[in-house]
Amino acid sequence: QLSNRPLSDTLELTSLGDVGERRVVIVGHKSPDGDCIGSALGLRSYLLARGADEVSILVVGRMPDNLRWLPGAETVHQLSAQSDLEPIRQILAQARLLLLVDFNHLGRIGNPLEGLVAEIVGKPEVRSVMIDHHPEPDMGLVNEMYSDTSACATGFLIAELLGGGASRELELHGGADMATCLLAATYTDTGLLRHGQITPTLFRTIAHLLEVGARHEEIVLRIFKSDKLSRQRLLGYIINERTTYDLDLGVAVFTLRQEDFDRFGIEPGDTEGLVNVPLDVAGIRAVAFLREQRDPDEPVKISLRSQGNLPVNEVASAIFGGGGHLNAAGAEYQGTLSDALALVWEGLRELVHRYPDC
Ligand code: 5GP
Ligand code: MN
Repeated sequence: QLSNRPLSDTLELTSLGDVGERRVVIVGHKSPDGDCIGSALGLRSYLLARGADEVSILVVGRMPDNLRWLPGAETVHQLSAQSDLEPIRQILAQARLLLLVDFNHLGRIGNPLEGLVAEIVGKPEVRSVMIDHHPEPDMGLVNEMYSDTSACATGFLIAELLGGGASRELELHGGADMATCLLAATYTDTGLLRHGQITPTLFRTIAHLLEVGARHEEIVLRIFKSDKLSRQRLLGYIINERTTYDLDLGVAVFTLRQEDFDRFGIEPGDTEGLVNVPLDVAGIRAVAFLREQRDPDEPVKISLRSQGNLPVNEVASAIFGGGGHLNAAGAEYQGTLSDALALVWEGLRELVHRYPDC
């Protein structure tokens, strides 16, 4: 059941408890991206302005370096298997409002946080809310569900829900920091408005964010023009030496191994967005990027992207039990890189033949 309450009512804090008890926890998905972090930080600014006593953001994995300048980013708890969970348990135990942003089911949170969130999500004293744009959200999970798969980013969805109509919440409580976070979220999930559903409403909402004070130039400079040199060199290596382009099929596939990460001094978040690059080649309709992770016991990560109506999320879910959007999906594979690679080629070949006209 989708919520028909205005989001500003759902995020109302006075009914949660007395001053001092209005504690909010925001949870994002593992390996958080710009949409996840920007949405969480935007909501944090907003809730603090509305009188929240404390807003804690919890994620599993490191956030990408190019997001660390966003207002409030220094407060994000980035958890790993080694983290001391006692303080996190305490934060969750005191939460009255729990916001799950930019993911659709608990399995996307990652360990060790997933189990802790599962324990509190159904408690009667906790108001739980999901705000997301992924297909097939877990409908029974939360008290209030805001899910819109047509939204190009969760950050845009939040801006739309709080900025539209007569509510004008963005001016009232949001301000420039919130607007900057939500615009950064929207720009990262759309690759600076290059993919996803780009609509008139999106441009109206962006105009509204700019009116409230969103810092467009700063976002472009600090997120999109701040690559480490090692990343540019890695990109050159990927294009020249690691990508297989099948122009008849319209598919490009590349892989990275652990030794490549060492050679280029690449941290996990640094590969964000690389998967989109081969889509710029004329005739390429689908791209897959497979990578080993630092820890050899960790599964192979698979990222898929496509152009038009070619549903790469079908490959992610049918073959690997992953998921995602029509044009941007992902999965994990417990096995060797070469086995994953063979499965990806088979899956994409089959997909392209099944959807010849997309
Ligand atoms: P990325 O390639 O940027 O890691 O992920 C693109 C999209 O694919 C994400 O927004 C998410 O919807 C989906 N996705 C990525 N990895 C996984 C995964 O392991 N499982 C599922 N279900 N979805 C994933
Ligand atoms: Mn997103």
